[in-house]
Amino acid sequence: METILFLSDVDADGTLPPAALEALGTAKSVAAALGNAPLAAGLVGGAPQPAADRIAGCGAGRFLAVAGPAFDQPRYASDAAAAEAICRAAQATIVVAAATSRWNRVLPGVAQRLQGCVDTHVTGWAAKDGVLSLTRWYYRQRMEGVLRRSARPWFILTDPGSQAAWAGGAGQAVVEALAVSLPDACQRTTVTGVQAPTADAQTIRPDAKLLLVAGAGWTKKQADGQTHLPEAERLISDFLRLTRASLGSSKSLVDLSGEGQAVLSFLTHLNQVGQTGSTPRHPKGLATCCHGEEPHTVGWRFIAERRAVNLDPNCGWARGKADVLYVADAFAVMAGLNTLLAESQ
Ligand SMILES: Cc1cc2nc3c(=O)[nH]c(=O)nc-3n(C[C@H](O)[C@H](O)[C@H](O)COP(=O)(O)OP(=O)(O)OC[C@H]3O[C@@H](n4cnc5c(N)ncnc54)[C@H](O)[C@@H]3O)c2cc1C
Repeated sequence: METILFLSDVDADGTLPPAALEALGTAKSVAAALGNAPLAAGLVGGAPQPAADRIAGCGAGRFLAVAGPAFDQPRYASDAAAAEAICRAAQATIVVAAATSRWNRVLPGVAQRLQGCVDTHVTGWAAKDGVLSLTRWYYRQRMEGVLRRSARPWFILTDPGSQAAWAGGAGQAVVEALAVSLPDACQRTTVTGVQAPTADAQTIRPDAKLLLVAGAGWTKKQADGQTHLPEAERLISDFLRLTRASLGSSKSLVDLSGEGQAVLSFLTHLNQVGQTGSTPRHPKGLATCCHGEEPHTVGWRFIAERRAVNLDPNCGWARGKADVLYVADAFAVMAGLNTLLAESQ
């Protein structure tokens, strides 16, 4: 019989990140599908009790925690020591955690210490006759693989946005605190601060319902023979403000700024979607002034409903890449959309 462990860090305010609740949902469902295997919850953080209470109704038989100021901040050495202690105490054979940058970095090392195995960026799973199989994508989301493993413990990192979040009730959890003594060598790294854009300047919003993609067409000469960059900036930023959409970009547009040309001031290479960019997850996507070429649209794998606005009826979107293509001037479409959005607010 497998023993399933849900593992997470706890935010500084005592809450669990949304991706962790997805991992918990997966852990709980996997436990049920494997013949009601025992489920444990493991938490790492400064003060994990509020987070344990938040998930008290998840059905875990044990709540294990490594707590204290040394475990408050993300740091490989302390996170790995905490995760190792929790996995050993739980005698876990399957460990489920969110594939955040923190755990993607740490859990492969913990798997090595425990002589187990690890799969990152897991997007799906199935259980048949007591055998668990996982799904993940390869080659920039072009091929899907199904994996089974016999080695244990098996660490499973689920991609944020790919799983249903656990949404059960809170309560009072009895937390077993595990003592982990950290040598000085494991505390050399300290987080001295966080540099982040202000909320309004932050254009990448993973939880947004809509992804707006801006392509290089916004910087091109238009019908009057002129470029209209200030207008493009205003139209896009107004749309983002009115919808709280996340902003994606094509590689061409991002590269223009690298070449010193004037482009949208709020774009960075982090906005790039595609083969050499990101593969965001949103229920809807709207591409504007973007040609819809394969290396870009491969990043749309997890966008459920796709629409595009392009002057060119033969653009890539017209070739099965989008559900709806509006053959239209994006400057006019976005201006009209913004007016409607402002009126409806
Ligand atoms: C190895 C490799 C990896 C790559 N990785 C990526 C990647 O990760 N992401 C990525 O995006 N690309 C990637 N590319 C590049 C990709 O092939 C395209 O070159 C790029 O996506 C084109 O960007 P674009 O559509 O914005 O620009 P363009 O191809 O210049 O298209 C601009 C579009 O804007 C339209 N347009 C202009 N004015 C208007 C208007 N007023 N209204 C409506 N439409 C208008 C035009 O009709 C045109 O279709 C990669 C390429 C290679 C070779």
